[in-house]
Amino acid sequence: MHFTRLRLNGFKSFVDPTDLVIADGLTGVVGPNGCGKSNLLEALRWVMGESRPTAMRGGGMEDVIFAGTSSRSARNFAEVSLQIENADRLAPAGFNDSDLIDVIRRITRDAGSAYKLNGKDVRARDVQMLFADASTGSTSPALVRQGQISELINAKPRARRRILEDAAGIAGLYQRRHEAELR
Ligand code: ATP
Ligand code: MG
Repeated sequence: MHFTRLRLNGFKSFVDPTDLVIADGLTGVVGPNGCGKSNLLEALRWVMGESRPTAMRGGGMEDVIFAGTSSRSARNFAEVSLQIENADRLAPAGFNDSDLIDVIRRITRDAGSAYKLNGKDVRARDVQMLFADASTGSTSPALVRQGQISELINAKPRARRRILEDAAGIAGLYQRRHEAELR
């Protein structure tokens, strides 16, 4: 199971539709300061269900929508779509018939986020659980933000435990237990 394609439209600095093929062996994205490297990683985190604006370097969730520049007007929505190859059938149960899994998240000003999994409307939680069960997702330690290494060194034991739980592939169970406790 691996990510093969990331498409962005109106997401942060990616105002024009952008189609990024994630080919085998891709090890880095380089470019001048401010060209959008971190925005790409944030798009990946966002489409996997990130719900904290602070994790997207914004004050509110709508801050991911292209805000406009002196020469281009702001957009009213942002959309990110992630294609996952599942030829190895390592995706969680429920996707055994799918060679490809398509996840789409779209946010519209004043209307919030909507998600689609293989064309079907789903909840944020469904998307988050898919990735948690696959031991990845918006909080996965596989995605390292700028400045995160020093945060890790200074982390409290509880926060470090979450990272170990994620590595052990039980983040989905943790989430379900948390939800059960809230009921
Ligand atoms: P660095 O090398 O400094 O880490 P980077 O390549 O990671 O740079 P990003 O932080 O991804 O760059 O991109 C920053 C750019 O994205 C800035 O120019 C900022 O104005 C732009 N940007 C962020 N949010 C939006 C938005 N909602 N609308 C338009 N532009 C945005
Ligand atoms: Mg950056």
